[in-house]
Amino acid sequence: MDIKIIRNESPAQLPDENALGFGEIFTDHMFVADYDDASGWHDFRIVPYGPISLSPAAAVFHYGAEVFEGLKAYRTPDGGVQLFRPMENGLRLARSCERIGIPAFPAEDTVRAVEELVRLDSRWVPGKDGTSLYIRPFVFSTDENLSLHGVHRAMYVIVCSPSGIYFGLDPVKIMLETEDVRAVRGGTGEAKCGGNYAASNRAADRAAELGYTQVLWLDGVERKYIEEVGAMNVMFKISSKVVTPKLTGSILPGITRKSCIELIRSWGIEVEERLLSIDELVEAAESGALEEAWGCGTAAVISPIGQFCYLGKEHVINDMKTGELSKRLFDELTGIQYGKRPDPFGWTVRL
Ligand SMILES: *Cc1c(COP(=O)(O)O)cnc(C)c1O
Repeated sequence: MDIKIIRNESPAQLPDENALGFGEIFTDHMFVADYDDASGWHDFRIVPYGPISLSPAAAVFHYGAEVFEGLKAYRTPDGGVQLFRPMENGLRLARSCERIGIPAFPAEDTVRAVEELVRLDSRWVPGKDGTSLYIRPFVFSTDENLSLHGVHRAMYVIVCSPSGIYFGLDPVKIMLETEDVRAVRGGTGEAKCGGNYAASNRAADRAAELGYTQVLWLDGVERKYIEEVGAMNVMFKISSKVVTPKLTGSILPGITRKSCIELIRSWGIEVEERLLSIDELVEAAESGALEEAWGCGTAAVISPIGQFCYLGKEHVINDMKTGELSKRLFDELTGIQYGKRPDPFGWTVRL
């Protein structure tokens, strides 16, 4: 892959690191590539960040063929910049493309493109505690044709956004969703696609109206087994063991989830990847066996859950305090990501 670089001749002023939100400001450049059946993926380029022009007939607007990724670049104490497991994102993006019928972009090329882009915009990687450069690769169909005929033209774009802390370590209140489902087995739950988010909007709005931060999703078939929390994977500490829903096809295989499992096992704590019913969770909460709960994902890293509401009843977890294991995971993961702790697993890639 040969990447052509067209530099931004009027680079923007860097934002105040103390006032960074999430995904609101974008860097000077973006990566773009095009696909069509005749040429495959081609015209790899890094260009000034700006609007993209699409036909109103572009298939993405009508039939929703879109997939995305999310990863971060971190500023290390010595002033360097590093990525966390970027190949995992590259591989997952290729798998998501495959599920949606979009021609896959090779994982190595995603990593290369991210590296080149972040190198060029490295002054945008903030250094303040808890901040990072959020990287958003996304692929969508651009066929100018309203008939349904597969994806024959597509575009791949990567944008970067200096970002602050997403949730923080204060436990949040969540609500069990019993009406809507996010995804079903055989559907697109395990692909990171925009459509899954569209399916989640209504429940998320309802939960927010009632004062909850996130929705806890149940499986779409039996409405019985716990799947994810908001747009994060979810873990519970029950009777000294960690339990997390197994990947059945409707759950997004999170890289933070995978890293948490590897870390927890390396600490000699048992992790069970299995079906966990809402009845078992309620019972564990009532008996006191439920010690901790947290969501995990790239944006928030670890987001402790302090309370969940099911069928109108509130269940408090760990007195609404951040649990010991949640805190340990957060410290270890961020320690590795920011290059402040040793990286025995070889997860980080220095630029
Ligand atoms: C991205 C995402 C996650 C978390 O994945 P990470 O690789 O850990 O960031 C979990 N659930 C959903 C639905 C997601 O889109």
